[in-house]
Amino acid sequence: MSVYASLKEEAWAANMEIPARGLALYTWGNVSAFDPAKGVFAIKPSGVPYPELKAEDMVVVDMEGKVVEGKLNPSSDTPTHRVLYREFSVADGAKIGGIIHTHSTHATAWAQACRPIPLFGTTHADHIQTPVPCAPYLSKEAVERDYETETGNLIVKAFREGIPGQCGPMNPKEVTMVLVGGHGPFVWGETAVKAVYNGAVLEETARMALLTLQANPAAAPLPAYIVDKHYLRKHGPNAYYGQGGAH
Ligand SMILES: [Zn+2]
Repeated sequence: MSVYASLKEEAWAANMEIPARGLALYTWGNVSAFDPAKGVFAIKPSGVPYPELKAEDMVVVDMEGKVVEGKLNPSSDTPTHRVLYREFSVADGAKIGGIIHTHSTHATAWAQACRPIPLFGTTHADHIQTPVPCAPYLSKEAVERDYETETGNLIVKAFREGIPGQCGPMNPKEVTMVLVGGHGPFVWGETAVKAVYNGAVLEETARMALLTLQANPAAAPLPAYIVDKHYLRKHGPNAYYGQGGAH
């Protein structure tokens, strides 16, 4: 029995949520699950259709990018996941146990428009207190150097330094989702399953925001006092939503 069996099982179960939630066509999309104590993450193999995917197919990769277990090639987006775990979870101490990347249609539409998703309503405010940030395109040099690693670096830079014209520095514990311009969403959570949940929330929020602008192109952002009420009843020290406080 592999020492990584439960991590692979967790990654597999979370990956199977991608088609279940309608977040991707074909083999698009990937989720990974991180074990900070072992310094490894399990990720979907490249190009295996979801109906054929098994827990034992998950590929275990260490923080240097070396495959430590698995017969198949890991997802081509593996270096992006590795940078985000290394910088946000290991370096910054954020509790990030899972990352999802898909090209879910509505979130990707905003990424392609290179626009942050405005915070129009409480569905959005229940999950993050800010617009969903949109990082700019990668530079030509970065794409040619090491595309997937540089995509991770771009996201880290956006969080550490802010995005010009959009927002200041962000905390990855609080802002758990980002769009990469011209590409799509990268989303994380305390577990792989929570990351997929956040990815599904983002897709629905993105769809609602488009419909909001269709209904009223001059729609205003939700006032801060309603944003704060919704966010803080689910997050923070005095959370009271659900059966037993914060979740
Ligand atoms: Zn992609």
